[in-house]
Amino acid sequence: MSSSANFVIDPPVATSVPVAGGGLFPVRRVFCVGRNYADHAREMGNNPDIEPPVFFTKPADAVTIREAIPLDQVSKQLDYEAELVVAIGSGGNDIPAATALDHVYGYSVGCDLTRRDLQKEAKNEGRPWDMAKGFDLSAPIAAIRAVSEIGHPRSAALTLAVNGVERQKGNIDQMIWSVADIIAYLSRFVALAPGDLIFTGTPAGVGPLKRGDHVEIEAAGIAKFHFQMI
Ligand code: MN
Repeated sequence: MSSSANFVIDPPVATSVPVAGGGLFPVRRVFCVGRNYADHAREMGNNPDIEPPVFFTKPADAVTIREAIPLDQVSKQLDYEAELVVAIGSGGNDIPAATALDHVYGYSVGCDLTRRDLQKEAKNEGRPWDMAKGFDLSAPIAAIRAVSEIGHPRSAALTLAVNGVERQKGNIDQMIWSVADIIAYLSRFVALAPGDLIFTGTPAGVGPLKRGDHVEIEAAGIAKFHFQMI
């Protein structure tokens, strides 16, 4: 610890995600968009035509690059959700959509692990989603690709396979709210800051995981990774 610091306990070490080609991206906060693909909104019983984007959060240290994720002991239905992830490099409030992509450092792909049974209960009872969405190791993620390397992808197949069987197949061009729209909308509610990650929603095909399942997730041309439930 720095001798000049006056912390009464050790401050937390920042969660970080490797950047392909070198370096670490320090994670500040994790924002997530719900219902951003019409087919997934429908499978969850919502009408995508009339609903604005739904935002929720996960703690920074929910993010993990571990390849072995312990099966949750609380939930009886732990669902996978493959998502494009946006890494914010410069922040701001009320960012216009026209310049929003200038705030993006890079992109990755991640899994929004969800205790679906607890989320359903929370929805039914009008309670917060936090314990359904923001638990430990609930955001496995691939290495980040810098915009300087890959630009701003407009179209990319987003796929998830469990034990070699494809379960989700969408394309990021099917997002109801584009990356620029999301940044503009979200920055009305909070000042975005460098280090923020945004999980941008999942296409149809979500489903439960069990112990031993091997999960592969790819946003074609952007990033891919895998993990196993243990
Ligand atoms: Mn999600």
